[in-house]
Amino acid sequence: MSILSKPHFHDEEAAYEFVEARVWPDGRVCPHCGTFDQSGKLKGKSTRIGTYKCYACRKPFTVKIGTIFESSHVKLHIWLQAIFLVCASKKGISANQLHRTLGVTLKTAWFIGHRIREAMRGRDHAPFGAGGGVVEVDETFIGRDYSVKPRGYLRGRGYAHKHKVLSLVDRDTGRARSVVIDDLKSATVVPILREHIAPEARIMTDEAGHYRYLIRDFAKHYVVRHTRGEYGLGPVHTNTIEGFFSIFKRGMKGVYQRCRKQHLHRYLAELDFRYSHRSAVGIEDEARAERALRGIVGRRLTYRTTHRQIGVQ
Ligand SMILES: [Zn+2]
Repeated sequence: MSILSKPHFHDEEAAYEFVEARVWPDGRVCPHCGTFDQSGKLKGKSTRIGTYKCYACRKPFTVKIGTIFESSHVKLHIWLQAIFLVCASKKGISANQLHRTLGVTLKTAWFIGHRIREAMRGRDHAPFGAGGGVVEVDETFIGRDYSVKPRGYLRGRGYAHKHKVLSLVDRDTGRARSVVIDDLKSATVVPILREHIAPEARIMTDEAGHYRYLIRDFAKHYVVRHTRGEYGLGPVHTNTIEGFFSIFKRGMKGVYQRCRKQHLHRYLAELDFRYSHRSAVGIEDEARAERALRGIVGRRLTYRTTHRQIGVQ
């Protein structure tokens, strides 16, 4: 059977049941007063699907309250289709494509995409390289940061005018984490690495100056000298993170052109999420969508906060 023919992708009631089983695995919790397991389904003719009434505070509620689905008029089974599509497409999916596939307006598609990205944003704050694992660190430049005047831009060189992204890949767990940074000074880079990487980790970087003093903060620091033509001496290499960047760049170039700086962290969250939950670490499309669904609670991104910054007309 095709995954897409499952009932929760077509039937609104099944979609509610599917989400309810994940948000309330042990019983319904009233989002208004927090009362557990003291509510009943409203079955009136005009009652909307999935509405319950709390016996404690007498207020009605649905599973959408407090999740990325709250105050959205899009049907829940369409949301589930959207989550599946975003999780199953290796390089990401544009708002335009979601708009055409799901039959929603472009503006709605754009909003759905950002809310799903918000659900994908890491909740796992465990440090990389715990227990002495290997962490590869590198930076990349993408798009165009219009807040910075170009330098060397006309000659086709320089990166000052581009968005700067610092990424880490934990070679043992296969996880990736990316952060937007304003510049590449040690004073900017090192505190971020300290925040995300365990002190006992073994770090691998290229010879860039901003990584020069990492040995002060971490157990080991190995440097791959690309200028000398070194691309890996046995286990000392940065090939994993370079592979991550190549997927990343295909995604950013092909799908998210002209991404603005204030949204970049959400796209990065999506790319990190998909990489950290990829097939190579044993997670297939459906399981990946399940993981994303776990992030829907407590991730309300109000329409107003994103709408102001909407990049589509
Ligand atoms: Zn209540």
